[in-house]
Amino acid sequence: MGRKTTRQTDIAQGLHYIDPETGSVIPPVVASTTFARDEQYQLVGGHRSYSRDHNPTFDLAEQMLSRLEGGHEALLFSSGMAAAAAVFQSLKPGDHVVYPKVMYWGLRGWLLEFAERWGLNLTPFDATDPDDLHRRVQPGVTRLVWIETPCNPTWDVIDIEGAAELAHDAGAVLAVDSTVATPVLTRPIELGADIVMHSATKYLNGHGDVLAGALVAKEDSELWRDVKTHRAETGAIPGSMDAWLLQRGMRTLFLRVSHASSSALAIARHFEGSPALASVAYPGLESHAGHEVAKRQMHGGFSGMLSFLVNGDEHDALRFVSRCQVFIRATSLGGVESLIEHRYSIEGPDSPIPKNLVRLSVGAEHVDDLIADLEQALR
Ligand SMILES: *Cc1c(COP(=O)(O)O)cnc(C)c1O
Repeated sequence: MGRKTTRQTDIAQGLHYIDPETGSVIPPVVASTTFARDEQYQLVGGHRSYSRDHNPTFDLAEQMLSRLEGGHEALLFSSGMAAAAAVFQSLKPGDHVVYPKVMYWGLRGWLLEFAERWGLNLTPFDATDPDDLHRRVQPGVTRLVWIETPCNPTWDVIDIEGAAELAHDAGAVLAVDSTVATPVLTRPIELGADIVMHSATKYLNGHGDVLAGALVAKEDSELWRDVKTHRAETGAIPGSMDAWLLQRGMRTLFLRVSHASSSALAIARHFEGSPALASVAYPGLESHAGHEVAKRQMHGGFSGMLSFLVNGDEHDALRFVSRCQVFIRATSLGGVESLIEHRYSIEGPDSPIPKNLVRLSVGAEHVDDLIADLEQALR
């Protein structure tokens, strides 16, 4: 490649991959778990010995992730949870961690339990109060600031640049769960983050058929080396076929995210002020508390995720959900098929999520069909 091309072009062409032996423009799936040695007992293929740590099918997906996030190095994991857990399990008992009160439900639940057993010292902060993070970070004490933006499922926006400054002034590391924003819209490393985490199950793969996670590091560090050792030793990795499907899915990431973002904005605008709704939560709306920060750190859209707060209680919310015919009633997000979910029913009575909140993941369908479906269901 003589000319420097944009991320979109590089990703669409799988970093301009061409197999040197066959000329194929798509890489092979290497299924082997082990790698041969020669008579001198040297590895025939260079450094690879066993696929828990050295799977060649990971190479292109990891290089694409580094390119997407502008990072030093990327690692694939078996799920988003495994990727996040690798960061927390690389901390030491007694380490202080600050995390948002509202965040991906599964991770918050695991973190609270794990911290108790591992002896991590956790402090939650309120992402809706711009000064609260400042109050919770302890200079010289805090080791990790974990944030998620936009935050699931209220889509609160956290100022990444501000969080990075607070974390670094205190001597802490900033990690960002950027699953919802995707590297198409936000690049946390450019804004000062040290580690970016993704549930690659969602937008990165984008087709609802792979469970995977990823971490991308800004630079090499002691924590990052511990994360790498952790993955190599515990084997929290996807299989070859899943890694291969992920590089395939990522090739259309820019198209999918830009379509989903523009449809989500159209839906949010269409239904804002609807008499059937108490409010619409979407960072792309001027009425959203995080809109100004979102405009600064999200480029080209505000993601395909939004929530409706229906007028009424959980029964009204569930009635609305039950009438949808195009939106599919299912959990997860970031796929080409639009999903609708009543989060409170999933999370249960301990959930901080309002009972009238309905979460929408906007897919690749025609936006007119999605709007018509929501309209008939709200009527
Ligand atoms: C889904 C999700 C996760 C967990 O990822 P899995 O791949 O399901 O393990 C973490 N964070 C966010 C924001 C998610 O949406």
